[in-house]
Amino acid sequence: MRIVITGATGFIGRSLCRDLCGDYDLVALSRDARKASGIVGQYARVVEWDGRTTGPWAGEVSGAEAVVNLAGENVAAGRWSPARKADILQSRTHAARAILDAIEMAKDKPKTFIQASAIGFYGSRADETLDETSAAGTGFLAEICRRVEMIAERAERLGVRWVIVRTGVVLGAGGGALPKLMRPFRFHLGGHVGTGRQWFSWISLEDQVRAIRFLIENPGARGVFNLTAPEPVTMKAFCRALGEVMGRSSWTAVPGFVLRLALGQMADEVLLAGQKVVPERLGQMGFEFKHRDVGSALTEIIRGEKHG
Ligand code: NDP
Repeated sequence: MRIVITGATGFIGRSLCRDLCGDYDLVALSRDARKASGIVGQYARVVEWDGRTTGPWAGEVSGAEAVVNLAGENVAAGRWSPARKADILQSRTHAARAILDAIEMAKDKPKTFIQASAIGFYGSRADETLDETSAAGTGFLAEICRRVEMIAERAERLGVRWVIVRTGVVLGAGGGALPKLMRPFRFHLGGHVGTGRQWFSWISLEDQVRAIRFLIENPGARGVFNLTAPEPVTMKAFCRALGEVMGRSSWTAVPGFVLRLALGQMADEVLLAGQKVVPERLGQMGFEFKHRDVGSALTEIIRGEKHG
């Protein structure tokens, strides 16, 4: 059984490949086959694509068990200039369209299509509890998610089971947000940003991968799923937990205006925005999280990093 994964060389994709490779034949679509072979070559057959148009790679989609689209420019890699914002948006819309074109052309349609989205869909929402039925918010991230999700829903017309994963902040070793969040604590400068009252909806990398596998393997899963741990925390509580696990105090508070000066719009949407998101639909389907509590998740991740 074949699973085609785009963005397989990324933080989530690498772990997903490692997890799935024992049970599936994996095809990693990458814009740079040489680089990808070095990263996921032991788990997957690497096939080159350009991330935006169909090509010979499209044949891999036919007859696949699932196609998982994780491709997109990293949102937090740099200040959001107009050019960077265009790259962030178009890398996602073009990749999703190319995959759906390939699915449309496939004689033997894949069974499942999984599209990455994010809890940025909900915008910044104070203390409101957000489940999959909550309305979209405003802002650049909400706009990207809304547009990508609209493209992904085309799978319905093509008769393919589709799943959109609205993912929270993924916490794991070796990538994503956690190393950046840990850095000030290493220098005894740890603390929350803004008021610290904004909600921080997180998921461990291990649960992120387990949830994607669950959604691939569960034919009853269809539509939008929030991929966040069942117990979101405030930014202040998260920083306290991180400080405790690292043996450092969480004592500073970086005011919002300083972050805005340094990071511009990204500060508002990524660090100062809050969303209290719950994984309602995963819970209804009986998915069991390994990490529910942020303190124990951080302990396991950081201890694993030290010993791994
Ligand atoms: P990464 O940034 O680590 O990896 C994304 C992958 O996408 C890269 O390895 C790259 O693969 C591919 N890519 C990068 N730029 C482009 C482009 N211009 N066109 C096509 N492909 C491109 O992402 P993550 O693994 O962290 O996340 C995967 C998905 O999940 C993303 O869409 C992300 O927005 C979403 N997400 C992630 C969260 C997180 O906390 N990590 C939170 C919420 C959502 P290659 O170079 O091999 O082509």
